[in-house]
Amino acid sequence: MSPARTWPVLRLELAGPLTDADRDRLLMDVDDTASIGLEEDAGGVSLYFLQPRERDAAHETLTGAGWDTHATLTVLDVPDDGWAAKSQADLPAVRVGRIVVSPPWDVARLRADLQGLPEAERPDVIEIEPSTGFGTGHHQSTRLCLQALQHIDVAGLDVLDLGTGSGVLAIAAVRRGARAAVAIDPDQDAIDAATDSVARNRTPAVSLRTTGLADPTLQPAPLVFANLTGVLLRREAARIQGLVVPGGRAILSGFTTDEATWVQQAFEACDLEERFDEESWVAFLLRRRR
Ligand code: SAH
Repeated sequence: MSPARTWPVLRLELAGPLTDADRDRLLMDVDDTASIGLEEDAGGVSLYFLQPRERDAAHETLTGAGWDTHATLTVLDVPDDGWAAKSQADLPAVRVGRIVVSPPWDVARLRADLQGLPEAERPDVIEIEPSTGFGTGHHQSTRLCLQALQHIDVAGLDVLDLGTGSGVLAIAAVRRGARAAVAIDPDQDAIDAATDSVARNRTPAVSLRTTGLADPTLQPAPLVFANLTGVLLRREAARIQGLVVPGGRAILSGFTTDEATWVQQAFEACDLEERFDEESWVAFLLRRRR
């Protein structure tokens, strides 16, 4: 695991709740920054960045757009609360339809319990060590993607998993009959975790690469997962759509109800086939037009 790290954050402390019109305007202005994530809460909005200089540039951009008259803007370094590491000692298995994501220590008990079910009803068990990459099934966005996956027939398909984290979505697709998956993540910790997951689940059809979505060697596929953030999905929409073959599908998540319309608008080459919601998180099953 990486040592404790911090995220550069630009905080907008608001006097009152954002109106829908204010939120739309803010999201548009955030498009002009390098933010990778946005969190809204009762007191305001936090914008996350990879680099302090990107945050500082965003501070200027949003001040230039007049946000300093609506909000108090502060720059912060927020400790990573360890998405993946959070109370990992007692994470239980999580079931989503016919897929169960389980930590290694729960697998034997689970398999024994599932033996009691008729074979046709037995869910697939995917074993994930919840120590590093994001994707233990304990985040709504992962569950929503697993739900969307079960809405389509993936037999024989090639899959691209953009931001694979623990590898969970690529592994699930292969378990459900996909031919092969290319799973990428720019974070080496995630790729190490995914390598462990692929070995545990004996799914060599998943190939892992330490790279980002801008990698020019990526080949379009008929099924693309992108569980990222609303801000990233919107910024990279053209590239992500270019990685879906015409008539193919994309499963997107990592964004919230407040961001859903804004994300959907950016995927203008696709039709929305289904939307999935859990609490304030959303996933889209999109189909690229021919
Ligand atoms: N697919 C997993 C993990 C999602 S978390 C799941 O559904 O649970 C999002 C992942 O995207 C993180 O592991 C992060 O490192 C990765 N990521 C961030 N920026 C990216 C980019 N530009 N290209 C590809 N992956 C990215």
